This record gives sequence, C-alpha cells and structure tokens, in this order.
Amino acid sequence: EDPILSTEKEVREWAIQKSSEIDQLKAQEKFRREFLSNISHEFKTPLFAIQGYIETLKDGMMEDDIDMATNFLNKASKNIDRLTYLINDLDEISKLETGQISIHIEKFDIVELILETVDHLIDKAKKQNIEIIVDLKITHPVFVKADRQRIQQVIINLIDNSIKYGKEGGKTKINIYPLLDQILIEVTDNGQGIEEKNLPRVFERFFRTDKSRSREIGGSGLGLSIVKHIIEAHQQTVHARSTEGIGTTFGFTLEKAKSAL
Ligand code: ADP
Repeated sequence: EDPILSTEKEVREWAIQKSSEIDQLKAQEKFRREFLSNISHEFKTPLFAIQGYIETLKDGMMEDDIDMATNFLNKASKNIDRLTYLINDLDEISKLETGQISIHIEKFDIVELILETVDHLIDKAKKQNIEIIVDLKITHPVFVKADRQRIQQVIINLIDNSIKYGKEGGKTKINIYPLLDQILIEVTDNGQGIEEKNLPRVFERFFRTDKSRSREIGGSGLGLSIVKHIIEAHQQTVHARSTEGIGTTFGFTLEKAKSAL
C-alpha cells in the first residue's frame, strides 16, 4: 500500500514519515516490554514470600513453634492482600485506559467529601502520629461537577501517600481554592519530599523512588497513575511540586458547579 512517488521531495518526505512511524512502534514495543517486566516483578516478590512462609511451615514449624507459625501465616496473608490490591489497581488502570469506565458526573459539595474521606483515614494517620488539617477558611458548601466516588479515590490516594511518605509527627494539610470556573484542591505534607529529577515520573505506572523502594512502604506504584487517569477523564489537571526534606504538594482541579442545584 506504499504510494507511488514521483519527485525526490516526495520520496524524502515519505521516508521521514515512515521512520517516525517505526520509531513510534519501537517506543510502544519498549513500553509494552517494560510494563510486562514490571508486572511480573511486582507479582513475584509477594509470591516468593508466600512460598517461603509455606515451605517453612511445612518443614515442621507448625509443631515446633506455634507463635512463629502464626506470625508466618499473618505475613503470608499480608502478601496475599498485596497481590489482591495489585490486581484491583491493574484492573482499574486498564479500564480507565481503554475508556471502559464511564464517569458519572453529579453535583456535590467537595468540602463535605473531603471531611468524610479524612474521617476514614484519621486512624491510619494517628498511627504515624500525623495530623490531618482541612482548611475551612473558605465559605462552604463548595459545589463541583464530578464523579463523587472516583474523586474520593483520588483524595484517598493522595492523603494515603502523605501518610506513607510523611514524617512521624508530621502534618498533612488540605486546601481548597475557588478559581474562576474551577476548584483547586491541594494536599501538602511535610515529609521526605521527592527529588526534582523524579518528580515528573511519579505519575508513571509502577514508578517508585529508590527511597520508597528501600523503605518497603510503597504500595504497587500505581496509585498516582490512577489519580492522573481519573482527573484526566474529567478533562481536568493534576500537578505536583516538592522540595526534598521539606515536603510535597499534590493538586488537582475540578469543574465548579454554577449553582447548587
Ligand atoms: P505507591 O503505591 O508506591 O505509593 P504511587 O503511584 O502512589 O505509588 O506513588 C509513586 C511514588 O511517588 C511513590 O512510591 C513515592 O516514591 C512517590 N511519592 C508519592 N507521594 C509522595 C509523597 N507525598 N511524598 C514523597 N514521595 C511520594
């Protein structure tokens, strides 16, 4: 199906176009390969751990040391939870990427949703001795047009990260800024921060900084990718800024509802 080319200029343009198509295919192929290798790596780690615990239990620990055996069973169970989260996240991402998820837009009060979500996470934050502060200086209710359930997922992921990567005794602040046609929501922590070179990559699937890898606290590395997909499905934007050792801010916009009704 290659065209018939008559002039040298046409040949040159055709060659340029062809080579950029090949580059694109190569990039897609590289992306696919990396994605598969990331997935298998993410699955192997908990599977090997579960295998290890079961082997040890089979080797007689059940009878020898019942406390240790119980401990191993709990650890195996945690790893199974991890696999379950991973599968759910992957499922969510693939649905978002293939447009299989429809966004159910409704009008709701974003302040109320934030307060409700903070309530769910307050115990988790307390365990890390982190205080969650919602800025209520604005006049509320603040009505937005969005998918309430998915936006709750976004807020959970951002607050959850601020707890995971926050410092013991730290603070998470949530600010709500009314703009012209949008509402800007920002979640700020005073935790470890993110190196400048890594900042643009945190929304990539499976990306985790070395620090979170070595601390073994990170989840699947899919949370922020899901956040980005959800916000972009709303035709809105997400951003991140950070200073190492000082803290990190993640923000996203939502469409402001013109009236409360
Ligand atoms: P994870 O499941 O690893 O938390 P995310 O997609 O939510 O995956 O985040 C990707 C990576 O971005 C994290 O592993 C961590 O390195 C970094 N990160 C995310 N949020 C923060 C934060 N508030 N402070 C510091 N680093 C963060």
